[in-house]
This record gives sequence, C-alpha cells and structure tokens, in this order.
Amino acid sequence: MSLFLSTSSPIMNEVRLLNLTSPLIALLFIAAYAFIGTRWKNLHYFLWLAASIFFYALGSALQILRLPLDTGLNSAAACLLYALAASFLTFACFLRLQIRHRHLLTAVFPALMVSAAFYFIYVDRNLQARIYIMNFGIGIQFLLAGLRIRSVARKTIDRVLGWVLICFGAEHFPRTLFTIGHMSKGSTLSMLVETPFWAWLNLSVLFFLVLLGITLISAAASDIIDDLRQRSVTDPLTGLMNRRGFEEFARSQIALPNRLPLSLILCDIDNFKSINDSFGHGSGDAVLARIATLLRRSIRESDAAGRFGGEEFLLLFTNLDRTEAHSVAERLRQEIERTQFHESGLYGRTVTASFGIVEYVPGEGLDSFIRRADAMLYSAKRGGRNRALAEESGVEHALSPDVL
Ligand code: GH3
Ligand code: MG
Ligand code: MG
Repeated sequence: MSLFLSTSSPIMNEVRLLNLTSPLIALLFIAAYAFIGTRWKNLHYFLWLAASIFFYALGSALQILRLPLDTGLNSAAACLLYALAASFLTFACFLRLQIRHRHLLTAVFPALMVSAAFYFIYVDRNLQARIYIMNFGIGIQFLLAGLRIRSVARKTIDRVLGWVLICFGAEHFPRTLFTIGHMSKGSTLSMLVETPFWAWLNLSVLFFLVLLGITLISAAASDIIDDLRQRSVTDPLTGLMNRRGFEEFARSQIALPNRLPLSLILCDIDNFKSINDSFGHGSGDAVLARIATLLRRSIRESDAAGRFGGEEFLLLFTNLDRTEAHSVAERLRQEIERTQFHESGLYGRTVTASFGIVEYVPGEGLDSFIRRADAMLYSAKRGGRNRALAEESGVEHALSPDVL
C-alpha cells in the first residue's frame, strides 16, 4: 500500500489535524523558555531556544496547513523556517558555552544550505535533493555543533548537551534515508505530511527539542548551585576564600596520604583600626581589597589564600617548608610596606603587616596548626609589628626589617 494518501481523502484531513498537535505542544515550550529567558538575565539563551521552537512550529504548521498554497512558496518558507530553527538552536547552545566564532556554523553554513535548497525549488525542481540537503545539512550542523560543545565543555551537563546535539544530528540521517526510500515517484512534499515518516519527524524533533530544553534547564540549575556553593566559600569584599572555604581546603590538604611539606602564613595588618578611624570604613575596605590582590598574586595554583576575618589573612602553601614560606612572607611584608594607597582619599598612605609562619606537624589538627601560626603572629606584634616570624623547631626565628 502506498504510504501517500490521496489529498482529497477524509482521513487525510484528520491526519493533518492530528499533525498540528506537535506545533501546538511546541507553543507551550516557547512560552516556558521565553519566560525563563526574559526572567533571568544570564539565561537569555533560552530566548534563542524559544525562537528556535517558534520557527520550527511555524514551518511545520505552514506545511501541514499548506500555507501558502503555492507549492514552491510553501517549500521555500518551510526550508527557511527550519534552517532558522536549527540555527537559533545551535546559537542558544553556543551562547551558553560562550563559544566564539559561532557565525560560521549558525549563519554561513545554513545560508549555503538554504541557497542550495532554493536551487532545487526554483531552478531544478527536485524534492528528493531538497529533502537530502535540508535534513543532511541540519544533521551535519548539529553534529558539528555537538562536537564543538564537547570540546570546550568543562561541566558534565554541558558534555551531555553536546551529546544530545550529536544524537539529534545523527538521527537526521537514518530518518531521511528511510523517508526517501519509501517515497514513490512523483510524490510531493504536501503528500509527505500524511505519511508515518512525517509523524516520526515531528515526534523526534519534538523529543529532542524537549530533551535539549531539559538539558539546558539542568545546566542552568547546575550553574546556580555552583554559584551558591562558590559564594558560600568566598569572601565578597576581597574575592579570596572565606574562613570556611579556606578551612575546607586546608583540611583536604592535611588529609592527603603522601603530602609534601605544608606551610601556613597568618597575616594581620598593623594598626588597621586607625585607617578606619582616620579615613573611614570605605577606605579600610579598599586597603583590604588591595592587600588581598597582592596576596592572591603571591600564591600558586596549588596554594590557597583566604580572609580569616577582619584584617587577617591566611595563606597555605603546599610543597613549601617553613624556611621557604618565611621568605615568601618576608617578600610580602616588604611589598605591603612599599605599597601606596590612593583609593578613597588615602592620598598615598602606606600600611604595614605582621606575619606568623609555621610548618605542619604530621598528625596535628587544623585548629592546632592555625593556633601555632597565631602564636607566631602574636609574637611578631609584640616584637614591634611589621615583621615576619617563623616557628623553627620550637624556637622563634625572626626576619625583621632591622635584621635584614
Ligand atoms: P594590630 O596591629 O594589633 O593588629 O591592630 P589593629 O588595629 O589592626 O587590630 P584591631 O583588632 O584592634 O582592629 C581591627 C580592625 O579591623 C577593627 C575593625 O573595625 C576593622 N575591620 C574588621 N573587619 C573590617 C572590614 O571588613 N572592613 C573594614 N574597613 N574594617 C574592618
Ligand atoms: Mg591588625
Ligand atoms: Mg586582627
């Protein structure tokens, strides 16, 4: 039995009406994604997804309803709308991953594809060629986009997004071959609408659009969770780890089985209260932020810098013994001493800081580790401030400005 029903068949009209459910369902997703895209600024790529589904639904509806009635015009409109839908979808994913040079795949490639399809509508009328071009074209576009996304994705959910696009793209090939294989000679695109393949096409497109939407929503949710987690361990003023974040990191380092020497530097700004009192809290904040930047620059990837509270900072150095850490602290002390602050009316004012340095003793807890650094810092303050004091086998060893 031919898969292509006569266009005057009453069944045909029912099939056509039934086919309209798919674009109608799409409307729900357009509304949901458009809401997400307009509601949250950093999720505006959902607007592109909404637009993509809109173009797909419009193209599909025009074909089902045969609007405009002119076959050439109908085909051309559908080709254009499907290409726009595919491009906007790819663009939405690229926007999320901040992929640059995205226009090649989202504009140049689809423009070539539509031009070729138009050739087979207006110059050499060939339905099969057009179906191949559009379906294989969009399939290739999604495959390449998926591969590109996978190559830059850092999060698992983004790799999943890449895979969904790859599967979506790959699915275009067997479906198209199957459709063409079952087309009879002389069949038109309009007839195709009544075939099971049309239902397959629409269901699969709808399935992947929903899957992509769910993946993008999961990705957005994972961003929000990551952001909250990041905030819970970050000091908002300085951008350094807060006490909680620092302690978490330090505990993980202490727990390492084959750990290399671990050194801790506790730094406290001298007479900081006078900065606040003389110049105001805002100026005090500016000094804290600047010193934090200086400290952040002094550490390596494997180390950590945190704001322990008020005007106290902690630095944890992995694979550094106390002598080396002592030199680092001394360098920092000199750098802080030399720094002139011009922010918030400080007019070139300088500050100094004191440092306590200790090396981890195997078996001790983090509290004891920090307490020992605090004791060194206290001694440095008592010794006159503006100095770096390291604990050395129970003997305090000072590298103060007058010693150097
Ligand atoms: P010392 O040399 O003994 O460390 O003296 P100090 O004045 O630095 O120490 P003290 O503990 O007496 O004062 C610390 C001051 O830090 C008091 C507090 O108002 C100020 N402070 C704490 N947190 C902040 C902050 O977030 N911003 C500003 N601007 N000041 C802060
Ligand atoms: Mg202080
Ligand atoms: Mg203090």
